[in-house]
Amino acid sequence: MPLPSKKAIVLLSGGLDSATTAAIAKSDGYEVHALSIDYGQRHRFELEAADRVAKALGTQSHITLPIGLGQLGGSALTSDIDVPVDRPPESIAEGIPVTYVPARNTLFLSIALGLAEVTEAADLFIGVNAVDYSGYPDCRPEYIAAFERLANLATKAGVEGTLQFRIHTPLIEWTKAEIITRGTELGVDYSLTHTCYAPNEVGLSCGRCDACQLRRKGFAEAGIADPIAYQG
Ligand code: ZN
Repeated sequence: MPLPSKKAIVLLSGGLDSATTAAIAKSDGYEVHALSIDYGQRHRFELEAADRVAKALGTQSHITLPIGLGQLGGSALTSDIDVPVDRPPESIAEGIPVTYVPARNTLFLSIALGLAEVTEAADLFIGVNAVDYSGYPDCRPEYIAAFERLANLATKAGVEGTLQFRIHTPLIEWTKAEIITRGTELGVDYSLTHTCYAPNEVGLSCGRCDACQLRRKGFAEAGIADPIAYQG
């Protein structure tokens, strides 16, 4: 009899990084349970992309959980704050931008941990990356190590030893071009993903926000055509 597959919870935003992370988890032999968080994003296109990506990958399950972070405010992604556009690469790489969502990865990983305990999945995957966004404190390896320790201290399964939680961050030290190259090898269909922070009313990417700029640069450096359309 074949061994039952290992289960993993994968945080799936609908963006390029999390789609690649989910494909890596699957190729590593995990039964993938995808979790998307409806955190009060100003637009819905990201969550629609997460649905498409989960279906294309054939995840075992996919939950979209609403948490109204918009009520907390403090981020250009959830509040009425302008998303920066046309920033030069050196400014994107520096400091913590207004698109930072307060405590987002801690909130997301905590929810993923709860789902992991219920699903009896010891492995959690998150597509954080410390290369392009050096300013995000919750994308650093030391943060991930601290959360992994917390996961094993904070849960019944961890304390009783039925599960030894591990937080996997396969992309953490990769450039965007490396992520796109690996995802392409794994058959990720990037036309299904959504990256832009400020799309127009029909979901067309702006091409000018930090996220669009990093995506376009990544595809260019990987020598692969970006399959999505941009405004203008
Ligand atoms: Zn954009």
